[in-house]
Amino acid sequence: MPDPSGFLRHERRLPARRPVPVRLTDWREVYPPAPDALVREQATRCMDCGIPFCHEGCPLGNRIPDWNDLVRTGSWEAAVESLHATNNFPEFTGRLCPAPCEAACVLGIAGGEPVTIKQVEVEIANHAFDLGLLTPQRPAESSGRRVAVVGSGPAGLAAAQQLVRAGHAVTVYERDDAPGGLMRYGIPDFKLEKQHIDRRLEQLVAEGVRFEVGVDVGVEVTGETLRAEHDAVLLACGALAGRDTDTPGRSLRGVHLAMDHLVPSNRVAAGLQKTTPIDAAGRHVVIIGGGDTAADCLGVAHRQGAAGVHQLDLYPLPPHERDEERDPWPTWPWILRNYPAHEEGGVRDFAVAVQEFVDDGAGAVRAVRIAEVTVDKRDGVRHVRVVPGTERELPADLVLLAIGFDGTEDQPLLDQLGVARNRRGVVEARPDWQTGADGVFVAGDMHRGASLIVWAIAEGRAAAAAIHSYLGGAGALPAPVTPAAQPIGAR
Ligand SMILES: Cc1cc2nc3c(=O)[nH]c(=O)nc-3n(C[C@H](O)[C@H](O)[C@H](O)COP(=O)(O)OP(=O)(O)OC[C@H]3O[C@@H](n4cnc5c(N)ncnc54)[C@H](O)[C@@H]3O)c2cc1C
Ligand code: SF4
Repeated sequence: MPDPSGFLRHERRLPARRPVPVRLTDWREVYPPAPDALVREQATRCMDCGIPFCHEGCPLGNRIPDWNDLVRTGSWEAAVESLHATNNFPEFTGRLCPAPCEAACVLGIAGGEPVTIKQVEVEIANHAFDLGLLTPQRPAESSGRRVAVVGSGPAGLAAAQQLVRAGHAVTVYERDDAPGGLMRYGIPDFKLEKQHIDRRLEQLVAEGVRFEVGVDVGVEVTGETLRAEHDAVLLACGALAGRDTDTPGRSLRGVHLAMDHLVPSNRVAAGLQKTTPIDAAGRHVVIIGGGDTAADCLGVAHRQGAAGVHQLDLYPLPPHERDEERDPWPTWPWILRNYPAHEEGGVRDFAVAVQEFVDDGAGAVRAVRIAEVTVDKRDGVRHVRVVPGTERELPADLVLLAIGFDGTEDQPLLDQLGVARNRRGVVEARPDWQTGADGVFVAGDMHRGASLIVWAIAEGRAAAAAIHSYLGGAGALPAPVTPAAQPIGAR
């Protein structure tokens, strides 16, 4: 029986982050593990509501009140089992998820403080590893069916684990030199140390998943070969087509897409290369964009020793608290999001747009000319208006464009399989997760567009369930979302 008054006795508390001056000297995670006593206290705040809206907020349908109560009573082993019933990789979501479940927590109504669900989740994941509970789950018998998964991000990995446990022979193809997708070389170590991916991969390998890394499917192996050698193919290639700009001066030296900065920087942090061609050390950095990617560029720039960093956002400064008219509980509110990288330094400018990247006379950028803007959306179309007389220059010798992604990359594999991208640059799925080509399924960012790890895992699980059914597998695998699923309250 959960504690009905825990939230009256305990305030919401998170463990302290590592001090900024210390963490800027390394690439280690910002949060140290939390003491058990704190996690159990915070789990006690969960009221075990009759209708747990947090379930609806979480695309995986994680059984949050169940494992909160198990943590409260110190039943870590049962909590690990309960969490893994719906989430293959809580060590990723517990570290990286923006936690829409917390936005939907009943304790958050009227400005209250939601349960620290994400923190409890990551500590259950930590206990799973520490207590040696992540033993391989091998299937009782083989189905004799073969599945190819292209892409080893969270969508591909979740699908692979579900399918191999159901008895199918699964091969995951990845063009990078190591599996993990964006979590490997896109997301910096200060958000996710890579041993968490490696430890989970050990479990997948022990369960029978085969990994073929360094293989660009469509180039080294054709789509036709893939189809001929497998009974089903899952495309989980992500949405990695970086959005660019045609702002004057874009071709100057020193103006780069964010991923061209992040990937080599993360490879340096991993010890795979000594230097990066785009180093922020000693430079005046301007980051354009306000999301996860921009915040990651900020944290990397500071660790590399930037002389100064400005982050520019097209949109106005969001409110600190939920606007109930605009985003009523339990929807995901538009509020100011402060990532740990923001407390490490830098200046944030809101409601500004770059008018020009300014040439230093020798073909390199020396400044960005910005202006204040107003933005409004009508009929789904964004209208940006410059406020006259507000132009000014910011010194810049490194500019990083973190302005989003235009869907999945156009690559030979798509033509080979007879799969097309739509106007949003993504691959559509039928209700059973098949693309326009029979037996070829799609999941994750490649289907949804640039999104979140929790959605990628949810789609990977659901696509695996559809593939299992397509292959005539016995019973049904869990399918937390449909291809048309949207975040709670999305309009
Ligand atoms: C910088 C950055 C920071 C982010 N931070 C967060 C965060 O904090 N929290 C969060 O929830 N989400 C975050 N995201 C989003 C999150 O990483 C993605 O939503 C998620 O990784 C999508 O998973 P996926 O499996 O669909 O694709 P991906 O992770 O993109 O993986 C796709 C994989 O497919 C491979 N591939 C593509 N084509 C081929 C081919 N032809 N042959 C073989 N392999 C191929 C690619 O190399 C890649 O490894 C971030 C994204 C970025 C860019
Ligand atoms: S995966 Fe994300 S939304 Fe789901 S319980 Fe964890 S933090 Fe919340």
